[in-house]
Amino acid sequence: MIEFYLNERKIRTDAPPGAGLLGFIRKEQGLKGAKLVCQEGECAACAVLVGALKGDSVQYRSMCSCIMPLANAQGRHVVTIEGINGAELTPVQQAIADCHGSQCGFCTPGFVVSLTGTLLGGRRPGYGQLRQAIDGNICRCTGYKSIERAAQRIAEELPAADYGLEALIREGYLPAYFRDMAARLAAIADPTRQGLPEEETASAAPLFLGGGTDLLVQAPRKVQHSAVQPVFNQPALKGVREEGGRCIIGAAATATDLQESELFQSVLNPADGFFHLLSSTPIRNMSTVGGNLINASPIGDFTILFLALDSDVRLQDGRRERTLPLKDFYLDYKKMDRRPEERLAAIEFDMPKKSLCFSFEKVSARRNLDIASVNTAALLEIGGDGAIRTAHLSAGGVGPIPMYLRRTAAFLKGELLDEELLKAALAAMQEEIAPISDARGSAEYKRLLLRQLVLAHFQKAAAGRVDVGSLALPG
Ligand SMILES: Cc1cc2nc3c(=O)[nH]c(=O)nc-3n(C[C@H](O)[C@H](O)[C@H](O)COP(=O)(O)OP(=O)(O)OC[C@H]3O[C@@H](n4cnc5c(N)ncnc54)[C@H](O)[C@@H]3O)c2cc1C
Repeated sequence: MIEFYLNERKIRTDAPPGAGLLGFIRKEQGLKGAKLVCQEGECAACAVLVGALKGDSVQYRSMCSCIMPLANAQGRHVVTIEGINGAELTPVQQAIADCHGSQCGFCTPGFVVSLTGTLLGGRRPGYGQLRQAIDGNICRCTGYKSIERAAQRIAEELPAADYGLEALIREGYLPAYFRDMAARLAAIADPTRQGLPEEETASAAPLFLGGGTDLLVQAPRKVQHSAVQPVFNQPALKGVREEGGRCIIGAAATATDLQESELFQSVLNPADGFFHLLSSTPIRNMSTVGGNLINASPIGDFTILFLALDSDVRLQDGRRERTLPLKDFYLDYKKMDRRPEERLAAIEFDMPKKSLCFSFEKVSARRNLDIASVNTAALLEIGGDGAIRTAHLSAGGVGPIPMYLRRTAAFLKGELLDEELLKAALAAMQEEIAPISDARGSAEYKRLLLRQLVLAHFQKAAAGRVDVGSLALPG
């Protein structure tokens, strides 16, 4: 039995936990405001807000209901456009109407939901945050400028004094029932319970279910008819923390959790804009790091990032736990050193010292909402004497698995960094990779891309000590 609130109404359902939320909302509940368009999380015409109890208030995130499994609604407040509508247009809807931000109107509910969700973060958002909130919403009519003008107007007109839930209800941005949602969610016995009968969770080879952003795109029917074991809302698999100099990330931490973690952000190179290269706001709200690693795509962005951080993965089967290096985890295309009953519990790595430089690079056909043609990361330390003290390099899109570039890293480690060494290392790297030609580019193109992106790592780490620019054109 799955129990949650859909707008103002409490839902108790025996529908399969792996079924898509959008189908349930539209077919079972007759709410047609959230639209079914791409069914791949790429357009957010199906956007809903999903509220989770945090202390004594509710934290809302926008999500794509077309690929959100029903199980992940357990204990949550799901808000569709019908749950925002009142007798009058809300100021968000009014701004979109006045600025001509709606033409055919098919995508408009998704925009209203995404924008309204941004108002619920506790702090008064500015134009930048409102603009960011709709990075996953696609509109095919307006050309976006009118929607951006609406976002600008919303930012200007938001209540300034006592900004918060009460002010938003008073000014008509939200219906009054939002006031009671924290108490209502608290009354659902255990908001983290996943609503699965014991015999299903005891399955010998359960289908672990994170945010569903890979599974419900790749195999929605299989998920609907499988004995799924949802991990998305498991408290034991959440969180980002430091323990004894190690950074430990729960496998069910979402991309947004990491984006909001100061600890994790301190590891990244701010100039790389890692999270801006990763999917979109609603998908980052849903996608877990564990899902990225276990999906085992050769171009998974988190996978490539964690490989360069020389991470370990912690696996549990209910009785035992084991830890192994991520670089030994991938055996062949989509094959891992993992038994079917083992779930990924955490990813961990040594917090890099200040002298280390972390770098992430990704090239995709589109800058936003696209997976990589080639991605790569590096953790490098170059001593005052010019010697390379630490070298970890990873690369995606250049082989059947996400690659830790062992031979290239070993070639570099301990050597004095100069143009000749770098040139030889780049040549050695070409021996280590085996890209294929596919829709994301020819094998030659991917070889060239990786070469240039690895040079970019060294440009950042060497900070002018070698003339990386002189190598930019392959000789
Ligand atoms: C529109 C869109 C854009 C995207 N953009 C990007 C992008 O830019 N970069 C990128 O790398 N990816 C991208 N993705 C892919 C996807 O979002 C990520 O791979 C994501 O991290 C998967 O996490 P999830 O929780 O949704 O996984 P799920 O779909 O829930 O699961 C994926 C796999 O992992 C398994 N699994 C999940 N959690 C566990 C666990 N704890 N233990 C054992 N097995 C587990 C599942 O059984 C399944 O096999 C995109 C997807 C969409 C739909």
